[in-house]
Amino acid sequence: MPEIHQARRALARQRVAELGADAALITKGANVRYLTGLVSSNAAVLLPADGAAVLATDSRYEGTAKRDCGDVELVVERLVEPALARLAIARGMLALAFEAYEMTVERHAGLAELDGGPLLLRPLGQAVEELRMVKDDAEIDLLARACAITSEALERVLSRIRPGVTERELAIDLERAMVDLGADKPAFDTIVASGPNGAIPHHAPGPRAFEAGDLVTVDCGARFGGYHADMTRTVAIGRVATWQRDIYQLVADAQAAGIAAAMADALVADVDDAARELIAEAGHKEHFSHGLGHGVGLEIHEAPFLGPRKAGTLRDRVPITIEPGIYLPGTGGVRIEDTLVVGAGQGAAGSARSLTTMTRELLVL
Ligand code: ZN
Ligand code: ZN
Repeated sequence: MPEIHQARRALARQRVAELGADAALITKGANVRYLTGLVSSNAAVLLPADGAAVLATDSRYEGTAKRDCGDVELVVERLVEPALARLAIARGMLALAFEAYEMTVERHAGLAELDGGPLLLRPLGQAVEELRMVKDDAEIDLLARACAITSEALERVLSRIRPGVTERELAIDLERAMVDLGADKPAFDTIVASGPNGAIPHHAPGPRAFEAGDLVTVDCGARFGGYHADMTRTVAIGRVATWQRDIYQLVADAQAAGIAAAMADALVADVDDAARELIAEAGHKEHFSHGLGHGVGLEIHEAPFLGPRKAGTLRDRVPITIEPGIYLPGTGGVRIEDTLVVGAGQGAAGSARSLTTMTRELLVL
C-alpha cells in the first residue's frame, strides 16, 4: 500500500521542516517499516524536508525492497547509515536530524567524521513515534486480528491450567496455539506466574507446577502483520480464598475505572490516577508498582505511556493497554490487562473499545 506510506512520509517531512533540518535520517526499524513498508534488520531512510525519500538496505533485502517499496529511491549498501549520510552531503543537505535515543556514540562519531561535512547533526526527538500513535483503519484491523488470536489462544489452553502442569509447559502450549491460529509469532515472551510467583509482575515462566489454590497470571500477546497484542488474565485453580477474591475484585474495579477514563483528550496521568486511586484507597498503593498501560502497535511498548508522572493526552484511534495489578510479595498477585482503542464512536459514550475479548470474570478452573 504505497499510498499509506507516502502519506506518512508527507506528515513526517513536515516535522523535519518544522525543526529547520534539511533532512532526517530514520534508523529505528519500526519507523523505517512505518514510513516505507520494508521489514528489515538493516535499513534506514533519508527523509528530506523537501523532496523524495531514499531507502537504504543491504543485498539480503534488495528483492523485498524492490517489490514492496517501489515508490522510493533505493540504495543497496551494507553500511546503510553512512551511505545515506554521504548522499545527504552530496545533495547539499548538511543539517541532518537523527533519532538520538537509538543512535550509539560510535555510529554518531562515524557520521560526524564523513568527508564533505561536517554534518550538523541534531536530534529529531520521537517525531515518527508521535505520528505512529494514531492508527489508521488498516493498522486497527491488524491489531484487532492480533487481539482476537490472543484471546482465542488463551481460551484454548485454559484446560491446561490444572495441578501438575508447569508454568513453562503452559507458556509453550500458549505460544504454539497463537502460531497455530495465524500469529506471526508471540508479541513478547509469555509470562506465566503461579502462586507466590504472581507477586513478580514480569516473572519468567519456570519449572513450578500449578497447585490447587493458586492464582495464575498469564500475560500474553500475538503479533499479526507486525502489530502487537497484549492481554493479561489471572485465573484461580480449584478454589478461591477470600484475600484472592478481594484483590481480584479490586483490580477488576480499577481496570474498569481506567477504561472509563480512557477517552479522547483525557490526560494520561488522569487515566492512570482513575485506576490507581481505587487501589490506593484500599490500602494497596505500594502493591501497584508499575504504570497503568502503554500504547501498542509496531512495538509492544510504544507511545503513549500511561503513568502518574507522564505527560500527554489520549486521542481518537490510539490503541492502549489498561493493566492494573496488585502484587503481594511472597504471596501472590493479580493483573488484568486489555488492549483497547480510544475513540468516540468506538464504544459506548465515546469510551475505549476493547480488542481483547476474553471474559474478565474470575475463572475458577
Ligand atoms: Zn502484557
Ligand atoms: Zn502491557
